[in-house]
Amino acid sequence: MIRPILIHPDPRLKKVADPVADISDELRALADDMLATMYDAPGIGLAAPQIGVLNRLIVLDCIKEEGAAPQPTIMFNPEVIAASDETNTYEEGCLSIPDQYADVERPAEVSVRWLDRDGNLKEQDFDGLWATCVQHEIDHLNGKLFIDYLRPLKRQMITRKMVKLKRERARS
Ligand code: ZN
Repeated sequence: MIRPILIHPDPRLKKVADPVADISDELRALADDMLATMYDAPGIGLAAPQIGVLNRLIVLDCIKEEGAAPQPTIMFNPEVIAASDETNTYEEGCLSIPDQYADVERPAEVSVRWLDRDGNLKEQDFDGLWATCVQHEIDHLNGKLFIDYLRPLKRQMITRKMVKLKRERARS
């Protein structure tokens, strides 16, 4: 089921999400809905707070090459356990901040630990777009958006555009 995605500014996007205690069928269904919502958008990552659910759950698939096999990834309670000193800058966007993009600098490589769809503990190193995406999504679980890394003026400009967009959408 495709879920509506919250648009910034929204208080639910600023909250710290709660850890998941055990992986129930209900949570698995939620994760599957999030993947469907992400692919439909389309996007390469989605965090549960973006659909108004304050659980520590993210989904991602950063395979962008045409014809490459998809790699749907579900992470419960994801945690960055190590990050490189070396950084990478990507032009980031966010499904909760449509059509706005800006350069964000983050560690180029991160080690992440999480529980998968079946509740197995996983640990993996990520680099490139995957590293940026997983850090962006984990930020969502801590109430942080990519625009929080920008200068206040740029952030305010984007926020004003989003307020206007939400007003227009509410009218139509
Ligand atoms: Zn985002």
